[in-house]
Amino acid sequence: MIFALANQKGGVGKTTTAINLAATLAQSGERVLLIDLDPQANATTGLGVRVEAEDPAMLEVLLGETGLSEVVVPTPVEGLLLAPSSRNMAGASVMLPDLTRREFRLRDALAGLESSGEQFSYVFVDCPPSLGLLTVNALVASDQVIVPVQAEYYALEGLAQLLDTVDALRRRLNPGLRVAGLVLTMADVRTNLARQVETDIRAHFPGLTFDTVVPRNVRLAEAPSFGLPVSVFDPHCVGSDAYFDLTQEVVGRG
Ligand code: ADP
Ligand code: MG
Repeated sequence: MIFALANQKGGVGKTTTAINLAATLAQSGERVLLIDLDPQANATTGLGVRVEAEDPAMLEVLLGETGLSEVVVPTPVEGLLLAPSSRNMAGASVMLPDLTRREFRLRDALAGLESSGEQFSYVFVDCPPSLGLLTVNALVASDQVIVPVQAEYYALEGLAQLLDTVDALRRRLNPGLRVAGLVLTMADVRTNLARQVETDIRAHFPGLTFDTVVPRNVRLAEAPSFGLPVSVFDPHCVGSDAYFDLTQEVVGRG
């Protein structure tokens, strides 16, 4: 099962959600691959992985210069492997448009990985904050998309455009794509605003919003600077509990 974490807004919790869903599943015994498609490489550094400019990473995979299995590296979590990004990925937006099968580069790389005998029960693709060709590659390669939504006043803004993009891609390039759900993140659960935003989102997207709400939790923000998922950094904090619950929901919705 392949999940993209997408929202064209930055800072809504895509990377945090990608790392922590992937880590929680790996800790439960699954073999999991996290693919970092963001030039910011926050999923890469957040798992303590350093990539030098000359090391092949996801850009070189998308360009077809190397296979996905050649860039995959271990992480601090057993069973969780990472296909890292690097600053070079910033060049993707100018290089990818001229390539053949430009929307299918990630899907083709994943097919190559499978035929090389590598098996993962779950793959998570962390997207950059745009609806450009990198996110399109993620959505074309995925079975489902998870949309982190920051619980703030402008939360609804942009969601319609994202869901329209998913619909368009389903019609044109990936008929099997579906929205796993929206997940509210960074919620200040004690404030009226957070409750109001949650009510609005659930009213706008009935049935599409995960029950689990990820609260604002400083341990979630600190964990990446130690190169660890929160479930390793502080397994008993509220952030860790929330991502455990969300993982159950994601798996349960299948
Ligand atoms: P995105 O990938 O959508 O840009 P991130 O996952 O990187 O968003 O989150 C943006 C920032 O907010 C990061 O510094 C991250 O550590 C922090 N953050 C994410 N989720 C939470 C949370 N639930 N509580 C506190 N800080 C969070
Ligand atoms: Mg990110």
